[in-house]
Amino acid sequence: MDDLYREVIIDRYQNPRFSGTLDPHTHSYEDDNPVCGDHIRIDLRVDDKDIVTEAKFTGEGCSISQASADLLMEKITGMPVADVRGLAKQDILDLLGIELGPVRLKCALLSLKVLKGGVYGLDEVMSLDELAES
Ligand code: ZN
Repeated sequence: MDDLYREVIIDRYQNPRFSGTLDPHTHSYEDDNPVCGDHIRIDLRVDDKDIVTEAKFTGEGCSISQASADLLMEKITGMPVADVRGLAKQDILDLLGIELGPVRLKCALLSLKVLKGGVYGLDEVMSLDELAES
């Protein structure tokens, strides 16, 4: 693992910038990754122009899952919902900047799954397995 990125992940895990809940919120969703025991909840505020004005997460689990969520909240703050819907596996990998094996990949993608659950609704969300293979 690249040292710089490892430092970013440890820092985000220990000192998350977007930790917390939003009350009221316009979107909220939570899920877990049973393989690793990671859990993430994401709250969003989306304004009447369909822009994400605030994004926060709470959760527990490994450093990859929590750092991924924190970096993702930063990325989507100020982003149109249409662009949030377009986020894919590669966007998460770019944020983390490291190579991930199949188990860690699901840790990294949990935040994307939860985010998509929030903006799409339950029925349209890919499973972690599907996301990892996307
Ligand atoms: Zn994990």
